Amino acid sequence: MSSYVVALDVGGTSMKGGLVSENGQVLVTDRRATPRAEGPDAVVTAIREFIADLAARGGADLAGVGLAVPGLVTATSAVYAANLGWRDVPAQAFVDMDVPVMLGHDVRTGGLAESVLGAGRGVSDFLFLPIGTGIAGAMILSGRPYGGAEGWGGEIGHIPVFPDGEPCACGQFGCLETYASAASVGRRYSERSGVPGVKAEEVVASDDPLAIEVWDEAVEALSLALATYTLLLDPSVIVLGGGLAEAGPALFDPVRTRLVKRLAFRDAPPLVPASLGVNAGMLGAALLGWTAAGRPSVGTGWTMDVRSAPAVS
Ligand SMILES: [Zn+2]
Repeated sequence: MSSYVVALDVGGTSMKGGLVSENGQVLVTDRRATPRAEGPDAVVTAIREFIADLAARGGADLAGVGLAVPGLVTATSAVYAANLGWRDVPAQAFVDMDVPVMLGHDVRTGGLAESVLGAGRGVSDFLFLPIGTGIAGAMILSGRPYGGAEGWGGEIGHIPVFPDGEPCACGQFGCLETYASAASVGRRYSERSGVPGVKAEEVVASDDPLAIEVWDEAVEALSLALATYTLLLDPSVIVLGGGLAEAGPALFDPVRTRLVKRLAFRDAPPLVPASLGVNAGMLGAALLGWTAAGRPSVGTGWTMDVRSAPAVS
């Protein structure tokens, strides 16, 4: 097997792994549960074992390891992750082998992949906004994911869009995420209708007036946040991903219409769907792995149709 990197996208419930060659071939994909309930050290151990097992399938030519992890992250340390209980875990703690390792923030790493390989290819300034259980953004500025002074940059889900709005789990009020994440859309409809456990996609597809109302508020919240982002950072394009983007025109059309209406003196940037889907974090981690290996520009030469790459399922 040719030279390759191990790439791992570590989420709160599962870890998506892969081996990616220097010409962009996804050689292996695999997925394991994140043993979050067993504590922070158990998760680090599970990651180390997963990486070792993946590397064993790749052979001797392991060039580097890239990991996408949640929370506050630098290239060399998982500084703080509330949902995994981590504080200051050094990158080398995740690997047993003597190979270069690089960490990245999960959403920004997905944004890096969309930037180099996906919907943002060839675009130097854009927003990658995955809308799933929560909402966080990757701001690609001048061709690079931007994390701000301390790594908190891109927390678009916690922009207060409605003054005196509903309380958010983060402690603030009126946050975008409280109205427009997939989890919130389902929860808010359930609260109003008294029907428990309704999923966001069911709300989107429903013609029940309560469902229309909840979806309308989600669209309103999104268009407000995107107008703010557009006015601040002038993106060429806004890339929407995550589970809620699967709603397609039911999401894109009304958000686009309202965003256009919100902006008076400038055009709205196009809204486009993300193209890497669930593989974005893993592919971004592969780019980090090649960067760690001293080959930061490897990914720009990849011509694979990433949609045909095996999905990490
Ligand atoms: Zn919040």
